[in-house]
Amino acid sequence: MLTGKHAVVTGSTSGIGLAIARELAANGANVVLNGFGDAAAIEKERVNIELEFNVKAHYINADLSDPAATREFIDTAAKALGGVDILVNNAGIQYTAPIEEFPVERWDAIIALNLSAVFHGTAAALPHMQKQGWGRIINIASAHGLVASVHKSAYVAAKHGVVGLTKVTALENAETGVTCNAICPGWVRTPLVEKQIEALAAKQGVDVEAAAKELLSEKQPSLQFVTPGQLAGAAVFLCSDSADQMTGTTLSLDGGWTAR
Ligand code: NAD
Repeated sequence: MLTGKHAVVTGSTSGIGLAIARELAANGANVVLNGFGDAAAIEKERVNIELEFNVKAHYINADLSDPAATREFIDTAAKALGGVDILVNNAGIQYTAPIEEFPVERWDAIIALNLSAVFHGTAAALPHMQKQGWGRIINIASAHGLVASVHKSAYVAAKHGVVGLTKVTALENAETGVTCNAICPGWVRTPLVEKQIEALAAKQGVDVEAAAKELLSEKQPSLQFVTPGQLAGAAVFLCSDSADQMTGTTLSLDGGWTAR
């Protein structure tokens, strides 16, 4: 379905981003990977994608909390691929603390990566998409883009910002063939959430699996984690012709979290 398309997935060395990059490649898209991690492991993943799916896969190391580096990253990716048709703004970090104790540098880092990088990446990618009259921008927001939780001021503010930015991007491009939507996952068991599970286990003196169950029962009525593969399926759907008229909206995969 996506043969010949060029996709850039930020934060795709791990978790949700990696699953999305692999699924886009499985559907025929050439991909650019980005994110931090062990160089040999990243190279292995890149080569695996090329061999498994018979597409081109590139890795571009860029710290997307830096605005200039983010714009340069998109330009480098466009040159490597020969264009940008699909941009998945996925890279994100988390930190939890009450507002009055929230370290300023953690606030700045979360806003820079989880919100501002979406703006800079979108700004740099749009001209490529507008020129060709087709494009897909998929922002990985969160259930926290729609509702709040305590101790996540920066994350909730950034993700609500991403949902707002998604709507503006959609409106400004409504007649251009470029759509922009946000996927809002509930709990997904990636390294980002594993840290929160471990912190809860330590706080309550219970084992990690008991803490994982508690985390789910507090927020996610299905009592099951969303999988990266399910989110990747949603991203591929948003790239399909069926989603041509879907723009400026949010797609929740959250086990019922935001239904109550
Ligand atoms: P993860 O920690 O597994 O992956 C994060 C990715 O971002 C990694 O590839 C990492 O190297 C990269 N990254 C971190 N800092 C970066 C930087 N400065 N520049 C470039 N890349 C950077 O986390 P994940 O759970 O897969 O999260 C992916 C996205 O999904 C995030 O935006 C997160 O907020 C969102 N999300 C996650 C969950 C969840 O439950 N895991 C729920 C809702 C939304």
